[in-house]
Amino acid sequence: MGYEADLKLFINGSWRAGEERDHFTVIDPTTGSGIAELPLATEADLDEALDTAKRTYPEWRATDVEKRSAILHKAAKLLKERADDIGRTLTQEQGKPLAEAKGEVLGAASLFDWYAEEIKRDYGRVLVRPPGQLSRVMHEPVGPVATFTPWNFPIYLLAKKVAAALGAGCSVISKPPEETPGSTVAIARALDEAGLPKGVFQLVHGVPDMVSRHLIASPIIRKVSFTGSIPVGKHLMKLCADSMTRVTMELGGHAPVLIFDDCDLDKTLDMVVPQKFRNAGQVCVSPTRFYVQESIYEAFITGFAERTRGVKIGSGLESDTKMGPLANKRRPDAIAALVEDARAKGARVMEGGEPGDSGYFYKPTLLADVPLEADIMNNEPFGPVAVTRPFKTQDEAIEQANRLPYGLAAFAFTENGRRANLLGDAIEAGMVGINTFAISVADAPFGGVKESGFGSEGGKEGLESYQVVKAIHQS
Ligand code: NAD
Repeated sequence: MGYEADLKLFINGSWRAGEERDHFTVIDPTTGSGIAELPLATEADLDEALDTAKRTYPEWRATDVEKRSAILHKAAKLLKERADDIGRTLTQEQGKPLAEAKGEVLGAASLFDWYAEEIKRDYGRVLVRPPGQLSRVMHEPVGPVATFTPWNFPIYLLAKKVAAALGAGCSVISKPPEETPGSTVAIARALDEAGLPKGVFQLVHGVPDMVSRHLIASPIIRKVSFTGSIPVGKHLMKLCADSMTRVTMELGGHAPVLIFDDCDLDKTLDMVVPQKFRNAGQVCVSPTRFYVQESIYEAFITGFAERTRGVKIGSGLESDTKMGPLANKRRPDAIAALVEDARAKGARVMEGGEPGDSGYFYKPTLLADVPLEADIMNNEPFGPVAVTRPFKTQDEAIEQANRLPYGLAAFAFTENGRRANLLGDAIEAGMVGINTFAISVADAPFGGVKESGFGSEGGKEGLESYQVVKAIHQS
């Protein structure tokens, strides 16, 4: 079956394509061939989107919470009904196996459902005052929002921002990733068909730097939410500083995984290997730096290598594929450079360590004894590579976990409850998973510390990130 997404911009409640607009060729990463043309927003499109976001905001903000909730639930229902088709589109343009793609669509739907309920529980507070006086603290929507999201989880990461922002009462202009646009168009269709008033949500694919500069320079935009790389995040924050626009920054990480000799080794390996190669490692919380207690180090890397050999790579459309290609040409090139550097500095290549035969594949790779000075120990690989090193003591493991300027996710495996509690406190990260990788869930905050960014998505904190507080005093 061919690629069927109808790629258009969605501005002021109408679908736009053609005319004088430039186009971007969407590539199938399994073959490296073009599969569709995406129209790119012009400056006139962006100006119209800004005017529309300003015009539609007051009415949407004043819309009854029950009605907002019903629209979000209806959009979730439509996404669930269409999960097979949207998932196929996602696999064709991004590469991940169909089951992962469908799971991502259902995850996006669950965010709309969750915020549809959470907005009903958004309370202010009344302060203690003498009789006849009143002081209250209110949450208000921040205003029109601009979102910028990446290609690794195109529908889930967009839903995370949009469900919370619309739920809070904001109008939203989204610039999704041009490389993987199809599933994001599906969100716009679902919201439109769910009855969202025209122009409250708009989709403006375009040249990233042009779109972000144009939207952020406008005083209409009161909040920017970005998910992507640290350098781009820093650049956007600088643009936002000029207009004092609020920001949420979900940036990269380099997740450490501490494996203690009191873990259940087989169970741990059965969890960590599929998790490492999920979405070909292109996950901001992908487990990457494996620090393994020395008494079980050889057993761990032997077991890891065995399981890695069982990860079948191929087209995501084939049912037995466990890992698809990387999403774009930049990734296998970057991974090859990191692996070569590590090899040259003394790392042992236990598995993989080379590109696939076609498309943008890179083989699932395990590196052992990786020296700290190897680039891959310091820069996020964002690909299917696990790096391992032995450690002796718990203190040494914690020091290694906290060594880098990133702090998004961290993981540890131990059956010792006292140690688990201590690790949860001692590791510098926004999310710590102990004996689990289930850290990206609708009801909990998700976000980084240090250079991994700030602000949270998910949970009530995700709703608050699209709100401002106001204190009102009466006497
Ligand atoms: P990149 O830095 O060029 O782009 C990252 C994302 O930001 C892309 O979606 C891109 O479209 C967008 N972007 C780039 N310039 C922009 C601008 N001026 N304004 C608005 N958006 C802009 O990197 P890349 O090659 O696409 O990805 C490589 C690195 O990005 C990875 O190694 C990883 O560290 C990071 N990344 C992180 C996430 C995440 O989930 N946190 C997702 C994708 C990529």
